[in-house]
Amino acid sequence: MSHLSVAVDDRIAVLTLENPPVNSLCHELRQALRAAIERADSDAGIDAMVLTGSGAGFSGGADIREFGTPRATAHPQLSSLIREIEASSKPVIAAIAGVCMGGGLELAMACHYRIGTAAAKIALPEVKLGLLPGAGGTQRLPRLIGIEPALNMIVSGATVAAEQMRDTALFDAFSDGDLLRDAANFARRVIAAGLGTRRVRDLTLRMPNAEAYFQFARNTVRAAAGPYPAPLACVEALAAAVDRPFEAGLKRERELFTTLLLSPESAALRHVFQAERAASHILDVPKDTPGRAVRKVGVIGAGTMGGGITMSFINAGLPVVLLETNQDALDRGLATIRRNYQGALRKGTLSPAGLEQRLALITATLDVALLSDVDLVIEAVFESLDVKRQVFETLDAVIRPGAILASNTSALNLDAIAEFTSRPQDVIGLHFFSPANVMRLLEVVRGARTGKDVLATAMRLAKTIGKTAVVSGVCDGFIGNRMLARYGAAAHDLIMAGALPHQVDAALQEFGMAMGPFRVGDLAGLDIGWALRKRRSAEFPDRDFSTVADDLCEAGRFGQKTGAGWYRYEAGSRHPIPDPKVTAIIEQYRRQRGITARAVGAGEIVERCIHALINEGARILEDGIAQRSSDIDLVYLSGYGFPAYRGGPMFYADQRGLHEVVRALRRIAAAPGADALFWTPAPLLVRLAQQGKTLGEFTGSVE
Ligand code: NAD
Repeated sequence: MSHLSVAVDDRIAVLTLENPPVNSLCHELRQALRAAIERADSDAGIDAMVLTGSGAGFSGGADIREFGTPRATAHPQLSSLIREIEASSKPVIAAIAGVCMGGGLELAMACHYRIGTAAAKIALPEVKLGLLPGAGGTQRLPRLIGIEPALNMIVSGATVAAEQMRDTALFDAFSDGDLLRDAANFARRVIAAGLGTRRVRDLTLRMPNAEAYFQFARNTVRAAAGPYPAPLACVEALAAAVDRPFEAGLKRERELFTTLLLSPESAALRHVFQAERAASHILDVPKDTPGRAVRKVGVIGAGTMGGGITMSFINAGLPVVLLETNQDALDRGLATIRRNYQGALRKGTLSPAGLEQRLALITATLDVALLSDVDLVIEAVFESLDVKRQVFETLDAVIRPGAILASNTSALNLDAIAEFTSRPQDVIGLHFFSPANVMRLLEVVRGARTGKDVLATAMRLAKTIGKTAVVSGVCDGFIGNRMLARYGAAAHDLIMAGALPHQVDAALQEFGMAMGPFRVGDLAGLDIGWALRKRRSAEFPDRDFSTVADDLCEAGRFGQKTGAGWYRYEAGSRHPIPDPKVTAIIEQYRRQRGITARAVGAGEIVERCIHALINEGARILEDGIAQRSSDIDLVYLSGYGFPAYRGGPMFYADQRGLHEVVRALRRIAAAPGADALFWTPAPLLVRLAQQGKTLGEFTGSVE
């Protein structure tokens, strides 16, 4: 398939990009386009060309699947294709509707004229992948729309409607009817008037005070970009457009692009981009698996999670029946939902009428019979198997056959929950994260008997409510919390060894984590873990579950909600202040266990905590709990504040090299006082390291 169709009508060749879904500029398409341009250019029967796209629009740009493969650089590259179009002796007119982004926009800017629809979507979003437009975009866009607007578009990667470009040279004309007919007529006018080819490269670019402007831009962008190098490189490329001739500017753009392409930040962002796309594919559930219609949802429990889950659905326009056991809890839950919307009201992102519309979608009730016609019900009651049993038995009796029964349990066995019903094929885990209306992550927990159509439905529904869904098998803590437990244990060991909570948090925040583990603990509340450990100690009397957090809780320090936890907090403030009282509790705890404190550096803190994550992630992968390594990354990126510029814990491990990771784990395991079993490298890590492979390459088959 050539991905390009060519039709000639009355001496005008219409070249249509045909590579669904967004006409990405893959190698075959580039080849076909170059050949078509050459043919049309030398065909005496053709006066002009119209370049357009089928389906979703003009073109979404480079084919991301080609990144890092030889196809990306196979001849002709986009930049040489652009050169050939620009050099064509016959006018080339881009006819632009729908998406016109990245390489697609660069291609359009190489054409001699552009006609668009007002709603066409224009962007150079490369910065979002840690790159810059590398096929002349940074040199041509400022010549067409001005330096400042071009800089804003390129540095932000934002999409703008073509309508907003009406007063710029980016568009020579707009069409509000038949775009192709208007483009052909435009071409005829160009020919009749003898306007010939008009090359963007020939436009002059002048800016008084350019030096001062770019200095200001550098300072602002540097401050906002944090660890990402791409935004500043975009500024440099634009500066080159102003102070150098066109060809020299292109050369500078290419140098900057190449540096970014090789940067770990861009590699990580491209990995995240691909991980997001990969996660929606379930290996044994084909994309076209029929799902079930979900038009009405039931939520059981109006507590912390039930309220947030309800908001996620009403935000997407889906009606929710919200069930509680008593009126007080229901009223409290509704009041919290209303309060949670206050921020959006204040910011003006939600109108009072919009709020009432949303709230009107909630049917709050104590009557389980009102759930009889829901298509999906999500249980968010107390985390106790007995309570869940009672709820699921009731649901089984009340909910119509064919509806989906979901649990938001954090750690209970979903297969056991499914067996409380007569329809385990309809039972699935939908593990939202707190606050559920804000957090993007949704772990979709696949039970042993969960139906494929139920899974397919859950994945589609996640998209509807704007969540990033990752499939997890059943195990204690699923993907995220199972890893978190190891990370938390490593952090606890470090304070036992001699570090203090604020040192551990600072080191991990410096690494890029949104928040260190002790700050997270204070935010979530230390009493939850305390209660869990007490339960576990009662269940397994010969095991020691105690941690120093128990002593904090004994002292009434439950975290932010009590004004003290691992830190202390001034009234009304969430700012954590290291507290000598905590140091004293930790020191006493160490003394009781005969531990002599030693100096613990930031490097050791990061190495241990991150390697604990990697090691457990590898076990999760090998156990088949996660389908692929990038799914684990996505869980950590979207649910646990792992920095995107490091690509996730598994990608980070691959970047370091698994050989190096295994060596580090063995070194930690051999250190005095270390829990050798905890730090033993996962067998998968050892095997892949020996084979010189990465976690990203692991497909689940036993090698
Ligand atoms: P919560 O205590 O805030 O709320 C539970 C609510 O369920 C209460 O309002 C209670 O009245 C209600 N309830 C209890 N039994 C009921 C019944 N039979 N019918 C109807 N309502 C009933 O608890 P939460 O923090 O929202 O947690 C709920 C579930 O979500 C738990 O399984 C928990 O493990 C899980 N979860 C919690 C978090 C979190 O951060 N809080 C995150 C993910 C998952």
